[in-house]
Amino acid sequence: MDKCVFCGGQVSRQQVTFLYDDDDNYFFVEHVPAEVCTKCGEKTYSPEVAEKLTRLAKRGHPARTIQVPVFNFGETSL
Ligand SMILES: [Zn+2]
Repeated sequence: MDKCVFCGGQVSRQQVTFLYDDDDNYFFVEHVPAEVCTKCGEKTYSPEVAEKLTRLAKRGHPARTIQVPVFNFGETSL
């Protein structure tokens, strides 16, 4: 079992949703295999997975499109 490089906690293999965030280009990738730290929640991806995520960013075709609400923290009175 690998250890988290940030906190030394145990990591477990999980499928996660990856958020790609580059300027005004955002998308999610679902069911991405990752190693997730059970202590701090840090996600790490294998080089192969990271490479595929980069390819998706360049020329992937999304399975579906969702609408995402965007809040401005400074403008809310809650
Ligand atoms: Zn950790």
